[in-house]
Amino acid sequence: MALFERDDVATVYGNCVTCGRDTRSHVLEKAKYEEYTAEVVTARSDDYANNSWEETEEVTKVRKVTEAVVACHSCWLKRHEEVKEMMLKDYQKWEASPQTYFSKIHVVTEICHAYDFPVELKAMRYLISIMKESVNQ
Ligand SMILES: [Zn+2]
Repeated sequence: MALFERDDVATVYGNCVTCGRDTRSHVLEKAKYEEYTAEVVTARSDDYANNSWEETEEVTKVRKVTEAVVACHSCWLKRHEEVKEMMLKDYQKWEASPQTYFSKIHVVTEICHAYDFPVELKAMRYLISIMKESVNQ
């Protein structure tokens, strides 16, 4: 069954993915849930009945499959600096030849998405769009 995220459940405190500190500052990845079917007993005979019987019903329940991935604010800031520095240094190179740096571009884009760096994400998505254009030509 497909895993899904829940917006109705707040992320609880977790350990920062980088330094291990307790935090819920930045949610990189929400917890994943799945639905499962369980049989619940809705009615049963009392203990003294001669013929014991049981009525069951199938219900859909939800359980957590993976915990949320979180980062504390100082690690988030550090990662932001790293990404900004990397882009300052390499962005022109990536833009000139996006195919060559295909996997690097994807990794950095995913980081920007997960850590929620909107400015950098936009710039990375631009690289992906020019990569797609040149493939279609
Ligand atoms: Zn941290």
